[in-house]
Amino acid sequence: MAKPIDPKKRPMPKQAPFERVRNFDEVALGYTPGLAREEASRCLACKNPHCVRGCPVAIDIPGFVQCIIDGDFSGGIKKIKERNALPAVCGRVCPQEEQCEKVCVLGKKHEAVAIGRLERFLADWEAASGAIGRPDIAPPNGKRVAVVGSGPAGITVASDLALLGYDVEMFEALHEAGGVLTYGIPEFRLPKAIVRREVEYVKSLGIKLHLDFIVGKTRTVDDLLRDFDAIFIGAGAGLPWFMEIPGENLNGVYSANEYLTRCNLMKGFRFPAYNTPLKRASRAAIFGGGNVAMDSARTALRLGADEVHVVYRRSRDELPARLEEIENAEEEGVIFDYLTLPIRLIGDESGWLTEIECLRMELGEPDQSGRRRPVPIEGSEFRMKADAAVCAIGNSPNPLIAMTTPGLAIGKKGNIVADEETGKTSREGLWAGGDVVTGAATVISAMGAGRRAARSLHESLFGPPVPPPGEEEK
Ligand code: FAD
Repeated sequence: MAKPIDPKKRPMPKQAPFERVRNFDEVALGYTPGLAREEASRCLACKNPHCVRGCPVAIDIPGFVQCIIDGDFSGGIKKIKERNALPAVCGRVCPQEEQCEKVCVLGKKHEAVAIGRLERFLADWEAASGAIGRPDIAPPNGKRVAVVGSGPAGITVASDLALLGYDVEMFEALHEAGGVLTYGIPEFRLPKAIVRREVEYVKSLGIKLHLDFIVGKTRTVDDLLRDFDAIFIGAGAGLPWFMEIPGENLNGVYSANEYLTRCNLMKGFRFPAYNTPLKRASRAAIFGGGNVAMDSARTALRLGADEVHVVYRRSRDELPARLEEIENAEEEGVIFDYLTLPIRLIGDESGWLTEIECLRMELGEPDQSGRRRPVPIEGSEFRMKADAAVCAIGNSPNPLIAMTTPGLAIGKKGNIVADEETGKTSREGLWAGGDVVTGAATVISAMGAGRRAARSLHESLFGPPVPPPGEEEK
């Protein structure tokens, strides 16, 4: 007899909205073992699992889901870790609704299996059990690799190569490792203890981490190439875009990068224990509609703002942020001003922001991205009050490495040009991947790029893998 369909996901237990807007603790509390097994039991165990193809690192999703059903949590986390070194992070921040869950067969008529929540459950179960497993490390192979940047791309390359017996050193510009996971994504969505745990795991593989080391300043890529057999550049996309409108240099106007870094990395949210200046607005406006905008808006609320507006030039349907985070922001009372474009920032005589002039928009024909283009409505100017504004409209790579590495091919948006499949750049011995190549993207896509680059780098130094006996090409 066919298994009865269970149409709805088990909801994620969360802190209540009125409570959580007053603290920086994690919002989502995670499944209990009982909830995880109930949710896992919804899986249809498809013979041809689309979910695996929807995962950029091809995790054996049906395999780990079955382990949860069987109560074999240690077997489940082992299966995930065969393909993903950061399960606690990915279970929390991956846009599953655009990837594995989007193609889940159950999701065609009902709600998809909550794959991300199950991944997070197993990672947290492992951490709580205190028995973090570590795969075997190959004996030293005599080759040295430098990894620039300690975000998800750099961490993936470094750990994959360390397991293959490389001597790996990681160079990070900031005083803490983790990239955007540390300085960008707020504590209430990704607790820093989890990122630190993942970084410690990577260090336990024998990787040497150099902090406060700016490649391009402390030493150039060419300096490093003299000491290492190869280099991977995973320097991310940390250069913020601005709106290029009058008034952006007023006090109280931030890039999301600066706003979130002051709050997360520099612990602005723990004032006065940490004396990091950060505007505590009473009416904040956030420009943009992605994850960065949601994080900035929810941070402003937690810093005490009475009113926070997300000002977005398209409609709710086009918001690029993860659905879960949009819903969290709505529940917390963030006000969404759709079809609205800021055109001028206005300040008082002391140079502080007081008002924002905006235009109303309507949606026209689809543009290159396939989304309907926002078109200004003539004569629709209006003003809104605000004493802080955060610009979260995008980022591109910092130009430092491009400027100090002769012969490295650079794209129109300042990105390093690298082969999509291998991560090879125009320079011999140099690989690159993650946001520094694609522009701002996702954690899992950066990790996927890191994995492909590690494989290519290894093949380039040691030749392609030898097929097992009996499987040689005839
Ligand atoms: P990064 O994480 O940016 O790491 C690059 C590292 O390189 C940084 O630590 C940087 O300091 C270092 N570096 C830079 N230049 C140098 C140099 N010259 N020398 C030495 N070190 C250097 N993605 C999701 O999937 N889900 C989300 O929910 C999500 N939310 C996000 C929220 C925010 C606020 C932001 C900013 C991004 C978010 N993203 C999200 C995107 C995701 O975090 C990035 O796509 C991902 O971190 C890219 O990884 P990376 O390793 O390429 O770069």
